[in-house]
Amino acid sequence: MTADMPPPVPATSGRRIFECPECGLRQALGTLAPGSTAKCGRCGATLLSIPENSLQRSLALVLTGLILLAIAITAPFMSLTIEGRFQEANLITGALALWDQGLWELAIVVLLTTVVAPLLTLGALCYVLVGLRLPRPPSDVPVVFRWLEFLHPWSMIEVYLLGVFVAYVKLIAFATVDVGVACYALGFLMLIMVAIDFELSPELVWREMERRGLAKPPPAQRGGALLLCETCGLTAPVGERGSACPRCGAARHLRKPNSVTRTWALVITAMILYVPANLYPVMTVVMFGQGEPNTILGGVKELLGSGMWPLALLVFFASITVPALKILGLILLLLTTQQGSRWRLRDRTVLYRIVESVGRWSMIDIFMLSILAGLVQLGAIATIEPGVGAISFCAVVIITMFAAASFDPRLMWDSAGANR
Ligand SMILES: [Zn+2]
Ligand SMILES: [Zn+2]
Repeated sequence: MTADMPPPVPATSGRRIFECPECGLRQALGTLAPGSTAKCGRCGATLLSIPENSLQRSLALVLTGLILLAIAITAPFMSLTIEGRFQEANLITGALALWDQGLWELAIVVLLTTVVAPLLTLGALCYVLVGLRLPRPPSDVPVVFRWLEFLHPWSMIEVYLLGVFVAYVKLIAFATVDVGVACYALGFLMLIMVAIDFELSPELVWREMERRGLAKPPPAQRGGALLLCETCGLTAPVGERGSACPRCGAARHLRKPNSVTRTWALVITAMILYVPANLYPVMTVVMFGQGEPNTILGGVKELLGSGMWPLALLVFFASITVPALKILGLILLLLTTQQGSRWRLRDRTVLYRIVESVGRWSMIDIFMLSILAGLVQLGAIATIEPGVGAISFCAVVIITMFAAASFDPRLMWDSAGANR
């Protein structure tokens, strides 16, 4: 799919042109007052947000987050007592148990999303925000900040906590469960991460880097072709450096390259894997020598059978409905884009936003599994073994996340002729 180059926008004094990352509309914005946010006039996406004291508040939140994460990693997470046997787990035990049982793919995903990505995100943010306060800021601050953009979606503390909750409810049915300090630390860390998303304005960090001489100030938008940098959000002329962003150096494209083909390939792969993910068992629970393998739907039925229907609904929604709706939603977006449909463009952009943000919640089942596998290893009394279905399921979740990221919603507006 090729997109027509939008016409040059005339230069405006004191205002800058911003391209909407979700519909491609170019609009001029004046200086925003602290505490205000500018939204796209056509699709409602956030164009620019300028929270008050963004950098100071973010630094305070990041430092608190690092302390909480250190507690969450080192302190006991949950302990289990059943028939006089005691088992304790921390944040890393679950991943290790999956590794021991040969499911190294799952072990890596759980470790990356619950420990490595949050640690790298908070560590890198700390480096950038402290670096910018030093008399001589380190020259690699812009590079570190650029990489944060890629790390961010893989930090899944909030989803993990919901997995913890489901595991907890399953366990208290047959054992005494004690929630450890790490669990509370993780709860507070989740709130801190949400607050950082709210307080930290990437645009203000880039402007501070410009002020400190770490990044070049954006060149004037004197007519001619403009390009949006999806990494730092700057809309700037094509310039001598060709497609590279003049501010952060990332490669820029008019639209995400091969977006439609790539998204189709990922969606089809996810559809194929959706079958084994639901047919094969995700885990086997053996209690006092008895038990049989359970599929995802089997797990939901079991929750229903024991009267825990709110939880059954939650797991059904997160594990079965969300992946299916994501796949169907992406197919709808792809087909309407290829047909150049003008039907409900704004609603389709909102659908894209939902598909992109909701996918991570399907990881609840995988996280619950890692907690159960780490905690319930009590020999003859009770064991929980993860099954192969869990690998396909985890692959569906990750592949649909990549599919949503490779789709460029601006193409819907281009193909409908709205960006001419
Ligand atoms: Zn827009
Ligand atoms: Zn950039």
